[in-house]
Amino acid sequence: GDAPEPAPIRRLHESLVNRIAAGEIIHRPASALKELIENCLDAGATTIRIQIKDGGLKLLQIQDNGCGIKKADLPILAQRFTTSKLSTFSDLAHLTTYGFRGEALASISHVANLTVITKTRKDSCAWKAAYLDGELSPAHPGHAPDPKPCAGNDGTTITVENLFYNTPARLSAIRNSSEEYARILDVVTKYSVHNAGVSFSCKKAGSNTPDLSTPSSSTTHQAIRMLYGQGVAKDLLNIEVSPAAPISTKQKGKRKRKESDDLDEEEDGEDVLSNSDGEAVADETEWRAEVYFTNANYHAKKTVFLLFINHRLVESPRIKRAIEAVYTGVLPKGASPFVYLSLQLDPTTVDVNVHPTKREVHFLNEESITERIADEIQAKLARVGERVFEYQTL
Ligand code: ADP
Ligand code: MG
Repeated sequence: GDAPEPAPIRRLHESLVNRIAAGEIIHRPASALKELIENCLDAGATTIRIQIKDGGLKLLQIQDNGCGIKKADLPILAQRFTTSKLSTFSDLAHLTTYGFRGEALASISHVANLTVITKTRKDSCAWKAAYLDGELSPAHPGHAPDPKPCAGNDGTTITVENLFYNTPARLSAIRNSSEEYARILDVVTKYSVHNAGVSFSCKKAGSNTPDLSTPSSSTTHQAIRMLYGQGVAKDLLNIEVSPAAPISTKQKGKRKRKESDDLDEEEDGEDVLSNSDGEAVADETEWRAEVYFTNANYHAKKTVFLLFINHRLVESPRIKRAIEAVYTGVLPKGASPFVYLSLQLDPTTVDVNVHPTKREVHFLNEESITERIADEIQAKLARVGERVFEYQTL
């Protein structure tokens, strides 16, 4: 026939494979920063300082006061699949930390210049190491690539420079650095709400005034007020939701109630749905949700939806739609709520392995859990609405 000679099949160069894989995880500066923030939180940091240049493309720097990294671990730090958080396959099911596959730093080192300065409590000085394509690389040409001693505080400072310098397509897709900076601030804002006990700051490099700054040890409600404004905070309700029926008597005692925040709400937020005695429901799993959401007096143009599943910032258009549907009966047309939902699920029921970006999470009984949360939001909104009505007609 006229068919051409088949082209030979060749193996892609490893560095190209790694660069492609990196692009799957690091879509834009904000996704790199999300991974780095999660690492700081995993390291037990209580202070996280972020500096940005050119929307994160020139510089992304994040300093924490966490546990630091041992000098001996620095040579393999940025290799793929190196992690301190997972060693057996069954660990994957019981994961409580944010990271789990040891790909973030590796990925970053394949699409940017990565520098790490770190000090553990036991170290007498800090160590500085530079990375390129997964490996230690000399900070200056001709020098040895080994980590160098330097001055530094306990904790870790990660510096990412020239992001996407070797992936021109990715780079050209990111046109607007102020838009990227806005995405970065959005990620930091959401993590600040979810980690109200941790002090965050974020600023442009060279600027004296941070664009975001939170104290340590505030309550969730205070953090929301600080970051989203008094307009949201004054109309904020709060509920905790758990399964409607007990899973088993064995697990009952485990459920712990959080101290309630000082809500601006007249009722003292005691909305924990305690389980009455009853039969175990076979297809229910153990879970707990904490929700902060605005009442009918609050009207935003667009829904603000913060969703954390097992402390990871994720997206779920389905859960968002389900909650928005509740508000269509409560708010005037065109008005939208603020909703922050923190969902804690039995890790064995969550499929965090769906996609390397870990944004798209699926879990067992997603539909029934979502429905129950939406129902409880609706019930609370109705109770509060009634009370306002009674008051007005007195
Ligand atoms: P993962 O978080 O999935 O383990 P990463 O590539 O994000 O993979 O990080 C690799 C390892 O580097 C982590 O397991 C941790 O041991 C260490 N690490 C990264 N960032 C920090 C940090 N800020 N503080 C302490 N250790 C860190
Ligand atoms: Mg990580």
